[in-house]
Amino acid sequence: MERPALHSLSLSALQSALRAGEFTALEALDSLEARIASVDPQVGGYLSRNLEKARAEAASADVSLPLGGVPIAIKDVINVRGEPCTAASQILQGYTATYDASVIRKLRAAGAIPFGRLNMDEFAMGSSTENSSLQTTSNPWALERIPGGSSGGSAAVVAADTAFASLGSDTGGSIRQPAALCGCVGLKPSYGRVSRFGLIAFASSLDQIGPFTKTVEDSARLLNVLSGKDPQDSTSLDLPAEDYTRLLGRDLKGLKLGMPKEYFIEGIDPQVDAAVRAAVRQCESLGAEIVQVSLPHTEYAVAVYYIIATAEASANLARFDGVRYGRRAADVKNLQDLYVRSRSEGFGEEVKRRIILGTYVLSSGYYDAYYLRAQKVRTLIRRDFERAFEGVDALICPTSPEVAFKRGERSNDPLKMYLADIFTIAANLAGNCGISVPCGFAQVDGARLPVGLQLLGKSFDEARLLQIAHAYEQSTPWHKERPTL
Ligand code: GLN
Repeated sequence: MERPALHSLSLSALQSALRAGEFTALEALDSLEARIASVDPQVGGYLSRNLEKARAEAASADVSLPLGGVPIAIKDVINVRGEPCTAASQILQGYTATYDASVIRKLRAAGAIPFGRLNMDEFAMGSSTENSSLQTTSNPWALERIPGGSSGGSAAVVAADTAFASLGSDTGGSIRQPAALCGCVGLKPSYGRVSRFGLIAFASSLDQIGPFTKTVEDSARLLNVLSGKDPQDSTSLDLPAEDYTRLLGRDLKGLKLGMPKEYFIEGIDPQVDAAVRAAVRQCESLGAEIVQVSLPHTEYAVAVYYIIATAEASANLARFDGVRYGRRAADVKNLQDLYVRSRSEGFGEEVKRRIILGTYVLSSGYYDAYYLRAQKVRTLIRRDFERAFEGVDALICPTSPEVAFKRGERSNDPLKMYLADIFTIAANLAGNCGISVPCGFAQVDGARLPVGLQLLGKSFDEARLLQIAHAYEQSTPWHKERPTL
C-alpha cells in the first residue's frame, strides 16, 4: 500500500508515527512547511509563521508527551508570546504578544509546537473571513468561495492539509460553521470547559476556544490537553479531569438523538437538508433512537445574540484606544483626538457597526428595552435546551443552512451574513457543547462543496458528544475526502 504523504496525516497518526520513530518532529515540520509553501499561496490561511523558532522546538521535542512534536496552527486572536496577535485588525498592527494564552501554555506542556498565525474575520466578527483587514482566505474546495468564519483560516488550513490541527474561537458559530464549510471537524466546548485567558475577548459570556481537526478522535485528544480549570479565567470550571476519548468506538445503541423541528425548515439549501437527513438515518442504523423535539425560542436567537454580543464587544473593545496596544494615529491634536483617530483608522466597518450597536443597546434609556430584555430571552433559549436534553442525549441538525458561498456575494448585506449563524448561535447563548462533522457534499456550479452535520450536547457532556460524532464519522467516508489543490 502506498504510504500517505506526511502532511496529510491526522494528528493521532502523526503522533503514533513520531513515537514509533518513523520520522522525527523536525521532518514532520519541514514536510508541513513544504506543503504550506506549495498550496497556501492559493488558500491564504496563514498570516505568518516563525519557522526558525518552530524548528528549534521540533529539534528538542519530547515525542513521549501527549502531543510531543506536533505543530498546531493558531487563530490570530490567541496570544503566543513573541508573535504578532492582530485579530486581523489594523488597530493591532505592530503588536507583539507579551505572554502565552493558557491554551498555548497547555499545548506546550503537552509537547505541541504552536506554529503559525491564522487569518480570521477582524476581532472574530463575521462568517466568511472577508472582514479580515489583512488578506483573503479561500475555501480549499473552491477557491472563489469563502471558507466560512470567523475562524476561516483555522478551517481552511486543516482542510488543505497545511496544518495537522488548529485552534479557533467560537462566539456564535465561528468554529462549527467554517469547519462545516471546509469539510473538517470543529468542536465548540461547553462554556467554562476551556480557559480563555489570552484570547482577545469578543463577547465574554459566549466565547470559547476549541480545536479544528481532521477526525473526531483528534478533537477528543486536543480537548484532553486544552480543558480544565485555570485560575486566570474565573469562568473556567473546576471539574474532575476526564479522558474525552473514553467513549470512542462505542455504537449508538440506547442513545436518543433529537431532531429540533426549528432546524429543519423551509429555506435551507435542499442539498444540505438531504445530506443531514441521510446522516440522521445513518445514526439510526447505528442504533440511535431518533425523536422529534422542539426548541420554541429558536427564532429569537439571532436577534438576542446581536444585542448581547455587540454589547459585550463594545465594552471589550474599549481597551483598543491607540495608547496601550498596537497602532496609534499620527500627528494628533490632543488625547481625545488620539482616541478618536486611532479607533476610526484602526477598526474596520463591521467592527465599528458592532461597537455602535453595542453602545446603543447599553445606553441609559435603551438598556432595559434591549440588553435586559435580550438577557431574559436568553434564559428562555437556555431552558429550551434544558428541556430538550431531559429526553435526549444530543441534538442532531445542520451546522449551516447553506454551503460555502462566493466571495463578495454577501459582503454588502450584513443582515444576510448574520443569518449564516442561525443554527450555531443558540448553543453559545445556552452554553452547551457542539461539534460539526463532515456529512457529504453538495454540487453547486460545478463545485463540490462540503456539508456539515451539527451535534449539540448537554453542557459538560463532551465525551458523549464525541462518542456520537465518532460513531457517525467512522461509519461514513466523508472525513477521508480531500480537496485537490
Ligand atoms: N458570525 C458570528 C458573528 O459574526 C459569530 C462569530 C464568532 O463566533 N466569533 O458574530
